[in-house]
Amino acid sequence: MDHFLYHNGVLHAEDVPLSEIAEAVGTPFYCYSTATLTRHFRLFDEALAGMDHLVCYAMKAASNQAILKTLAALGAGMDVVSGGEYARAKAAGVPGERIVFSGVGKTRDEMRQALIGGIRQFNVESEPEMVALNAVALELGVRAPITIRVNPDVDAKTHAKIATGKSENKFGIPIARAREVYAQAAALPGLEVIGIDVHIGSQLTELAPFRLAYEKVAELTQVLRADGHDIRRLDLGGGLGIPYTRSNEAPPLPTEYGALIREVLGHLGCEIEIEPGRLIAGNAGILVARVIYVKSGEGRDFLILDAAMNDLIRPAMYDAHHDIVPLVEAAPGVEQQPYDVVGPVCESGDTFAKGRMLPPLAEGDLVAFRSAGAYGAVMSSEYNTRPLVPEVLVHGRDFAVIRSRPTFDEMINRDTIPEWL
Ligand SMILES: *Cc1c(COP(=O)(O)O)cnc(C)c1O
Repeated sequence: MDHFLYHNGVLHAEDVPLSEIAEAVGTPFYCYSTATLTRHFRLFDEALAGMDHLVCYAMKAASNQAILKTLAALGAGMDVVSGGEYARAKAAGVPGERIVFSGVGKTRDEMRQALIGGIRQFNVESEPEMVALNAVALELGVRAPITIRVNPDVDAKTHAKIATGKSENKFGIPIARAREVYAQAAALPGLEVIGIDVHIGSQLTELAPFRLAYEKVAELTQVLRADGHDIRRLDLGGGLGIPYTRSNEAPPLPTEYGALIREVLGHLGCEIEIEPGRLIAGNAGILVARVIYVKSGEGRDFLILDAAMNDLIRPAMYDAHHDIVPLVEAAPGVEQQPYDVVGPVCESGDTFAKGRMLPPLAEGDLVAFRSAGAYGAVMSSEYNTRPLVPEVLVHGRDFAVIRSRPTFDEMINRDTIPEWL
């Protein structure tokens, strides 16, 4: 459930008509709902109630300061994958002890930054990273708390570009080598081994791959404990999928996911961490765009929008589907027609949907891409010197611009001219 619904035929974000925001901010823009973000975070938090746990929002999904502050106020931790994200989490007021550092290529500078600023744990992904982190920690005279990310070699049954738990993926160490690598870690005085980490992919629509992976983690926990490691925290990653269409079957709910965790891992007495990103932010955000032209092509009509692949790259990058809806609800009984929905960028890849059935639309009409809150604005760029798409946050009857659209001068003035020109 989200909070983007029609009232009196006009699509609203909570209690605000989106047309009102479009008028104030211009198009295209992203719009997020506080109530939906809150609801999604609480679903996870409640699904793990009774277990010692922390929900660390994977902020790469949507990392605006206002979104982070909204979630941090609910008690969320943060899963960060870069020094920039770490700085964002700190700037949003998240204490270091609630920040987890993931990622396959952490630099020594990033390690230093997090060790000085405070960190809950590093999820280490390789032996060379372990060696580097040990050196940085010793140099600072501290011990770095770590889990080691194991690759359980399970098929997440998701898009190849967002599957991470197969042995051919670059992530983690093969679970078969875990004992050996944990022994090496335990011998490094700058590291404190506290747990195990696993993350098998994104947009998972079944629980079975999670079960397989978590069963392997449960078994590994016992084995590593028998080897003398104090395994007290399990980081189970993110990845629970969301419904991108109204029609297809619904992915598992956070409550079912929580029940699975309890069933497979509850008896181990470990603190549980999860790192959901998409499920918290995905359906909490939409992208609003305006129709610039309706162009008749050969056997098809093109809906040319003022949003483009630089604003929302998921369709071009992952063949992702986003439901597209008009801001003004079509009258009942109006016949839909197929459109190729495209942006203005000079690439054929700048196509959001082909043959999409929509009510008849005209120049100037507004449409919304649903489920655009995760991996939307964060992946936007200024390709074609199109200003970075602004972001708006709604809270009940209020809305605020939380990232403004840069002016052309602001964009141009970021370039600097060498003195010889
Ligand atoms: C991307 C990522 C997540 C979040 O995945 P979602 O599918 O957005 O829930 C969590 N943990 C790690 C390590 C990731 O790389």
